[in-house]
Amino acid sequence: MREVTLVGGGLAGALLALMLARRGLTVTVYERRADLRIERIEEGRSINLALSVRGLHALEQVGLADAVVAQTIPMRGRLIHPVSGNTSLIPYGRTPEQVIRSVSRRNLNVQLLDALAHEPNAIVHFHHRCVGYDLRTRTLTIRDESAGREFRVEAPVVIGTDGAASAVRLALLQSLRMNYSQEFLEHGYKELTLPPAADGSFRIEPHALHIWPRGGFMMIALPNLDRSFTCTLFVAHKGTPGFDQLTTRDAVRDFFTQTFPDAVPLLPQLEDEFFRNPTGGLVTIRCSPWHVNGQVLLLGDAAHAIVPFFGQGMNCSFEDCAVLVELFDAHNGDWGVIFPRFFELRKPNADAIAQLALDNFIEMRDTSADPHFAIKRQLEHLLEERYPGQFLSKYAMVSFHRVPYVEALERGRVQDQVLMELCSQVNSLAEIDVAEALARVQAALARR
Ligand SMILES: Cc1cc2nc3c(=O)[nH]c(=O)nc-3n(C[C@H](O)[C@H](O)[C@H](O)COP(=O)(O)OP(=O)(O)OC[C@H]3O[C@@H](n4cnc5c(N)ncnc54)[C@H](O)[C@@H]3O)c2cc1C
Repeated sequence: MREVTLVGGGLAGALLALMLARRGLTVTVYERRADLRIERIEEGRSINLALSVRGLHALEQVGLADAVVAQTIPMRGRLIHPVSGNTSLIPYGRTPEQVIRSVSRRNLNVQLLDALAHEPNAIVHFHHRCVGYDLRTRTLTIRDESAGREFRVEAPVVIGTDGAASAVRLALLQSLRMNYSQEFLEHGYKELTLPPAADGSFRIEPHALHIWPRGGFMMIALPNLDRSFTCTLFVAHKGTPGFDQLTTRDAVRDFFTQTFPDAVPLLPQLEDEFFRNPTGGLVTIRCSPWHVNGQVLLLGDAAHAIVPFFGQGMNCSFEDCAVLVELFDAHNGDWGVIFPRFFELRKPNADAIAQLALDNFIEMRDTSADPHFAIKRQLEHLLEERYPGQFLSKYAMVSFHRVPYVEALERGRVQDQVLMELCSQVNSLAEIDVAEALARVQAALARR
C-alpha cells in the first residue's frame, strides 16, 4: 500500500511523515491545531525539551540533526540548588561531548514541518481534527475546524501519532479487545519563566539543567535560546505542599521564599504566571496491541505516554519512527508484517522507559541532593573511563548510547543498587577501590 494517513502532525507525526514521504509514499497528515509556522499557538505544555542520542539518531536519518542541534543549548549536567549554600554541578557525561540538549518544542516542530513542506507527495491539513475511525470500513471521520464541517475519508492505512489523548486509540478501544491503563502521578506541574537579565544575558548558568530537589517535590529549569529559562515546578495536586494549598498570591510567595529562596528574585512574574499558567497532569499510558492487521498502528505518545523525568518521551517517539522505517525497508513496505513486528520490538522497550522515567522522578527530587549520589556519579564516570566496553551507567545507556531501554532498566537497577550501597559508606571517591566496585557490579549482573 503506497498511501498512508497520519493523524497528528506533532513531533513524531511530522518526522514520520517526512521519513515515509522520502520513501516515495503518498502521505496525508490531519493535524487538529493551526499551522504553528503561521499562527502563534499557546502550547499549553513543556516549552522546551531535552533532546539526546535517540532523538538525534532519528533526525540524522532525515538529514536534520545538524540544523536542529544548531538551535539547541547543550546541558552538561544537573546543577543542584540546595535551600541554602552553594550550587554544585553533577555532570551527565564523562566527556565534553556527552551532553543533553535543550530544544524548543515549537522550533523543532517548525523545522520538521518546513522539511515536510518540500516533499511533493506529502500534505498536511491543519485545523483538521480526527473525531472517529471505523475499522470495518477503513474510514476516518475528520472535522475541519476552520470550515466547521465534518467529513468521512477512506484511509486504508492509518498511523495514529496524535499524542497522549489519541483519538485513533480511542476508536480502537471502542471496537477491539484492547488492554489499556492510565496511571496519573499524584504530582502535577506548572511552568514559570525566568527571564534574561536587563543586559540580555542568562541570569543563571546556561549549560546545565537546574534542579531544586526538595524531597518529595522539586523545581527544574531548562535554558532557552532567548536567554530565558523555563522553570517547571513539580508538586502534588493535594497535600503539603500541594497545588490545592497554593491558592493565594501570599501562599505562593511564601512557599517559594521558604523553598526556593535563590530562585525568587529571578522570577519577577511569579504570582501572575502561577495563576495564569495551567497546572498540567502527569500520566503513564500503557496499551496493547498497538496495531490491527496491516491497517492501523499507534506510535509515539499515542501508544505509550510516559512521565517526563528521564527526558525521553520525544526521544523514544523519534526512535519509534526510526525503527518503523527500518522495518519498512526490510519488509518491502508490507504493513501486515511491519506493524506486528514493530509492536513486538517496541512494546517491551516502551514499558521499560515508562518505568525508568518513574524511577528517575525519585532520583531527581530526593537522591540528587544526597552527597553520596554525587560520589556515585563520579564513580560511574571513572568506571566508564577505566573499563570501556565493560561498564556503562544507566544514564549513559539511555541518553548517550542507544542501548535498548529494557536492558538499560535491567542492568541499571542492579548497577545502581551495588554502587549506591558502596558509595553510601564513604565520604569521597578516593576511598573506593574501583576494580573491586567493577567486580561487585559484574557479580551482581551475573546473578540476575
Ligand atoms: C512537561 C513535559 C516535559 C517533557 N519533557 C521532555 C523532554 O525533556 N524530553 C523528551 O524527550 N520528551 C519530553 N516530554 C515528552 C514529549 O513531549 C512527548 O513524548 C512527545 O511530544 C510525543 O510526541 P508525539 O508526536 O507522539 O505527541 P505530541 O507531541 O503530543 O503530538 C501529537 C499531535 O497530534 C495532534 N492531535 C491530537 N489529537 C488529534 C486529533 N484528534 N486529530 C488530529 N490531530 C490531533 C496534536 O495537536 C499534536 O500536534 C515532555 C512532556 C511533558 C508533558
